[in-house]
Amino acid sequence: MSLEERARRERLLSNGAGAAAACRACRIGYERRNNVYGEGEPCARLMLIGEGPGETEDLLGRPFVGRAGDLLEKMLGAIGLAREDVYICNTVKCRPTLLDGEKLRNRAPDPAEMANCRPFLDEQIEIVDPSVILALGAPAAKSFLGRDFAITRGRGRWYDGPRGIPLMVTFHPAYVLRQGGTALTETKRQVWSDLKAVRARLDEPSLSEPAQASLFE
Ligand code: SF4
Repeated sequence: MSLEERARRERLLSNGAGAAAACRACRIGYERRNNVYGEGEPCARLMLIGEGPGETEDLLGRPFVGRAGDLLEKMLGAIGLAREDVYICNTVKCRPTLLDGEKLRNRAPDPAEMANCRPFLDEQIEIVDPSVILALGAPAAKSFLGRDFAITRGRGRWYDGPRGIPLMVTFHPAYVLRQGGTALTETKRQVWSDLKAVRARLDEPSLSEPAQASLFE
């Protein structure tokens, strides 16, 4: 990837982040502390998409930070990738919340919020143009595969994602963290299986970097 192309993508993503920061299409746009547009490698071959920012993400303006972010980094490390190698974002850029007594709690984004925010996500996918998309959790998967998608049955398989990009679904790291005992062991085993499939797909010759031999022709 040329330096010019990288700079072009960075510029487009920066413009997108500016537009999302100014957006108030949903009520949560007024309630958020920070807009969490996304971050990472603008020329990434793997894009990770979660459902929406949680409390820590909202506070810091960054996707997948805190305990879930730490686990995500371990998951990536298991297939030889660093956080800096991938592009990470969510289906909605503002934190969806519900009031539980005195406390604001995280909730999954509703369909209207996802629809309002979809142009930002579609633009990110178009700009980064990854080789593989990994949807983390059922809400993110449903945004691509329909409301009837069931993650327990549908994870671990390949789907035609947006722009024809291969799409895999696995469990969200926050869900993994909520498990315990044998459920935790089984969930980790399933996530590891899904990650290995992603690694294998990225390593397929047709999806790998262009052959260096072309430099010498
Ligand atoms: S969630 Fe997306 S569409 Fe809704 S206000 Fe935030 S940036 Fe705008």
